[in-house]
Amino acid sequence: MLANFVQATYIVAGILFILALAGLSRFETSKRGNAFGILGMLLAVAATIVAVWGPEAWRGDDWGAQMPSFIGGGGVLPLVLLIVAMLAGALIGLIKAARVEMTGMPQLIAQLHSFVGLAAVLIGFNVFIEVRHELVAGFLVPDAGFHLAEIWIGVFIGAVTFTGSIVAWGKLAEKISSRPLTLPGRNLINLATVIAIIACGVWFQNSYSWIPLILLTLLSLFLGFHLVAAIGGADMPVVISMLNSYSGFAAAFSGFALGMNVLIITGALVGASGAILSYIMCRAMNRSFISVILGGFGATTAVQGDGPAGEIQEIKADELAALLADAKSVMITPGYGMAVAQAQYPVAELTKRLTDAGVEVRFAIHPVAGRLPGHMNVLLAEAHVPYDIVFEMDEVNDEFDQTDVVLVIGANDTVNPTAMEPGTPISGMPVLHVWEAKKVVVFKRSMKPGYAGVENPLFFNENTYMLFGDAKASVDNINNALPAADGRAAIGA
Ligand code: NDP
Repeated sequence: MLANFVQATYIVAGILFILALAGLSRFETSKRGNAFGILGMLLAVAATIVAVWGPEAWRGDDWGAQMPSFIGGGGVLPLVLLIVAMLAGALIGLIKAARVEMTGMPQLIAQLHSFVGLAAVLIGFNVFIEVRHELVAGFLVPDAGFHLAEIWIGVFIGAVTFTGSIVAWGKLAEKISSRPLTLPGRNLINLATVIAIIACGVWFQNSYSWIPLILLTLLSLFLGFHLVAAIGGADMPVVISMLNSYSGFAAAFSGFALGMNVLIITGALVGASGAILSYIMCRAMNRSFISVILGGFGATTAVQGDGPAGEIQEIKADELAALLADAKSVMITPGYGMAVAQAQYPVAELTKRLTDAGVEVRFAIHPVAGRLPGHMNVLLAEAHVPYDIVFEMDEVNDEFDQTDVVLVIGANDTVNPTAMEPGTPISGMPVLHVWEAKKVVVFKRSMKPGYAGVENPLFFNENTYMLFGDAKASVDNINNALPAADGRAAIGA
């Protein structure tokens, strides 16, 4: 029977999504995980097309009860609508994915979250049109209370995700300031808005009228905007994973409203994994989860003043090449600038040359380096840097004092010692203790501060050297300055 086939395919797709998540949790299995995810999505889409297209004779008696509500009676028109919508979505997705630079990934993800939020709002409205029609006509709608609750909760989460993701996109794309918006009494504003949303939900539930639903949508749109606008630059990693989680729960509620199991499974998986990731990011940044989701509760503002000052020491690529050749141990701490410069390939080349010459090279990865959880790991894997020399911050943070040279390639906030003092937006965030190494070389283009806007006193330390210029060009120059012959003696000569 067609209904059983469609439901069974949805369950297989759900299992493939679980396998995808399991695979994506480790570098070694991530490609396989991705393949499972793609296959699961293909099956889910194919099953939905079959459900809409399937001839009536193949359907069982309980077709209506088993199928998502939007499939309705099926037929040519819904099939055409479905295919047109899918093609339009696929085309936009293809164009966006083909055009996006690796550095633009976080913004793209924020945009995609906003689409999920908007879709959840529209699905909620659509399902309400159907349910209301039946209720107003006096039909008995089984579990009407549940349906109405699914609708307003889905619309609420979707609307918060929509505006929150747009603000996150604006902050990541530097279209709007990354500074936190600190309206007076902002926590009270949030609390009052949530209470008003719940009141509208209760009103909606009892009246099945459009007015509370529209009011609730507007309030939720405002809440999403205000929550994310109040979060400062340095806390943005938590916001990204939190919006990821919200988008999952919005999709899950849409699944409930439509009666579509595969959407419930997928949404719950995304929602739960996003929530776990947010928790991990909060721990990595030494932040309380509650205070971040309450929108910068207790956030501090940057200390105003002249910032650190003093003499800086510059170093040239050929001098650094000689220094590296003499070193026994080198630690590389990449950051957002490595992604901007696309320097991962020459960095991988440099790593290989130094390793071949007997220098111990390791990478220390800060959990929020770059603009995306796992950003640096993805870049290094792309350039085939061996996984076993890439370490998390906690694994190597005590080992900088036994390191000859640290190369800070396009990192700034994540190596800023100011984080260990109170009063700045990055205060309390654990940072890489690069300054404990014998020598530190910072690759950047200017003296500008990092993403959180906090000046970095590291640049003025006695053992710090600045290598100004684009990180890719700088690492290329170092590679050119190193003799091509393998072997430590050759380089050191
Ligand atoms: P930062 O963003 O603090 O600093 C990057 C540095 O790279 C800048 O100082 C910049 O200096 C330099 N840079 C930029 N382009 C180049 C280039 N082409 N060549 C050489 N240098 C370059 O980086 P970090 O990775 O240390 O910190 C990440 C920050 O982003 C943290 O504040 C984190 O909270 C935040 N964040 C992280 C997210 C995540 O999920 N990982 C998400 C959102 C925000 P200059 O301009 O002088 O070259």
